[in-house]
Amino acid sequence: MQLKIYNSLTAEKEIFKPILEGNVGMYVCGPTVYSNVHLGNVRTFLSFDFIYRSLMHLGYKVRYVRNITDAGHLTDDGNVENDRFVKQTRLEKLEPMEIVQKYTVDFHKVLDMFNLLPPNIEPTATGHIVEQIELTQKLIEKGFAYESNGSVYFDVLEYNRRGLNYGELSKRNIEELFANTRDLDGQGEKKNPQDFALWKKASPAHIMRWNSPWGEGFPGWHLECTAMSTKYLGEKFDIHGGGMDLKFPHHECEIAQGKACNDIAPVNYWMHANMLTMNSQRMSKSTGNYILPMQLVTGENDFFEKPFHPTIVRFCFLQAHYRSVLDISNDAMIASEKGFIRLMEAVKVLNAVTPNDEKQSGFNFEEWKTKCYDALTDDFNSPILIAHLFEAVKFIFALNDDKETISAKDLEDLKTTLRAFIFDVLGLQAVEENNNEKLDQTLQVLIELRNQARKSKNFDLSDQIRDKLLAEGIELKDGRDGTSYVLN
Ligand code: AMP
Ligand code: ZN
Repeated sequence: MQLKIYNSLTAEKEIFKPILEGNVGMYVCGPTVYSNVHLGNVRTFLSFDFIYRSLMHLGYKVRYVRNITDAGHLTDDGNVENDRFVKQTRLEKLEPMEIVQKYTVDFHKVLDMFNLLPPNIEPTATGHIVEQIELTQKLIEKGFAYESNGSVYFDVLEYNRRGLNYGELSKRNIEELFANTRDLDGQGEKKNPQDFALWKKASPAHIMRWNSPWGEGFPGWHLECTAMSTKYLGEKFDIHGGGMDLKFPHHECEIAQGKACNDIAPVNYWMHANMLTMNSQRMSKSTGNYILPMQLVTGENDFFEKPFHPTIVRFCFLQAHYRSVLDISNDAMIASEKGFIRLMEAVKVLNAVTPNDEKQSGFNFEEWKTKCYDALTDDFNSPILIAHLFEAVKFIFALNDDKETISAKDLEDLKTTLRAFIFDVLGLQAVEENNNEKLDQTLQVLIELRNQARKSKNFDLSDQIRDKLLAEGIELKDGRDGTSYVLN
C-alpha cells in the first residue's frame, strides 16, 4: 500500500516518502486568537485532523505541531496600527493576553466539540520570541535581511539574485509581483515592495512589544511559523499544511526564510485545504458571510432550519475531499444527517448479525477493504472512502433481512474495520448514546472514582475501572481538560 499525497509545490500527486521511515513530522498553521473561530476555520483544522488520524491509522508515528498565533498578525494592508490584537484589545477593553487566553480557550472548546485530536505540540508565537530574534539575526548575517528604521525586512530581490526562487509555491512571477504591489506599510523603509517584515518596530500605541537588537518591537507573522516548525520538527520536515489562502504570501515566505537560513527547502510536501463557502461565497469574518460553530449546533441562526450535532457537521465536511470547495447549506446538512443515521444504524445492526460459514457470501470482504484503503491512501480521499462504507452498509442491511450471509471470520473483520474507519479515522461519534443522560451521569461517577483511586495511588483499581469500561466499548481519554469518554 503506497500513500499518495498531492503536493502543492509540484502540483502533483506524489508517493509519500517520509524523511525517517515510519515517522511523520507535520506542521499546520494554527489560528490567530483574536476572535472566535468561524466554521470555515474549523473545516481546515478538521481536514488536517482527518489527515493526522489517517496517517496514524496507516501506522506512522506522527509528530503533529499546530501553533497558536498570539502576536504580530497584521491585517492585509500590513499597517502596524491595524494589528488584529491591538484592535480587539481596544474593542473589548482587555489586556492583549486576556484576548489571547479567551480565544485560545474558545478554540480548544470548539475543536473538542468536533472531536479533533489535540496536536502533539501546540507552541505559541509569544513563547518563541527569542527564536524569532535569532532567526532574524541569522538572516541579517547571511545578507538576506536588512534593518530599516527599527524594523527588519527580508530582501526578496537578494534571495532571487542568489538563484533561489521566490514565488515557487504560489507560481507567481516576481517581476509581476513587483509591478502589482502597492506599498502601504513601511513606505520608504523597504528596499522593494515585496520585502516582508521579520521584525516590526512597535509604535507607541502598540502594547505587545519585546526588546530586540533593533529596539522594541514584535515579530513578523511568517517568521513565527518558521521558528516553531524548525524548533520542533527540524530544518527539513515532511508535511506542512494550512488553508489554501495561506499559500501566498505566508507559506511562500516560510519557504524563503527556511531556504535562506538553512540552505535547504524546509518542507517536502505542502498540503492545502480548500475553503468552506456559504451562499457560494468564501466564509470570512471580514465580509460578514460566516457562521460560528456554536450557532450551527444550537440552531441560533437564520440560515439553517434546525440545529445539527457537531458529529453531523464533521460528517458533512468529510463527505467532500479536503482539496475541494465545500458549500455548506441546509440541504447538505440534512442529507448528511440522513446518511449518518443510516451509518450508525448499520453499526448497531452488525452487532446482532449471526454468521453462517456454510453459505457463500455475496460480499467480498478483502476486496472491499482494499478499496477502502486505496481511497484513504489516494490523497486522503474521504468521500470515496465514505462511499465504500455505504456499500458495506447496504450489505449489512441485506444481512439483517436474511438476504445475505457472512462467515464468522469476515463478520469479525468487518466489525473491526468498519468501526476503525468510522470512529478512529473519520472521527465520528455515536450521537444517540452520547445524549443518554443517565449513562453520562454514571460514567461521570466512574471517572470521579477513578480519579480518586489515582490520587491515592491505587493504580490497580484505576486501571481496572479503565479496562473494564474498555471491555464494554467505553474508552476513557485523559486530556488537558480532564477525562472524557468515547463510546465505540
Ligand atoms: P486564521 O486564524 O485567519 O489564520 O485562519 C485559520 C485557518 O483557517 C487558516 O488555515 C485559514 O486558511 C483557514 N480558513 C480561513 N477561512 C476559511 C474558510 N472559509 N474555509 C476554510 N478554511 C478557512
Ligand atoms: Zn503559519
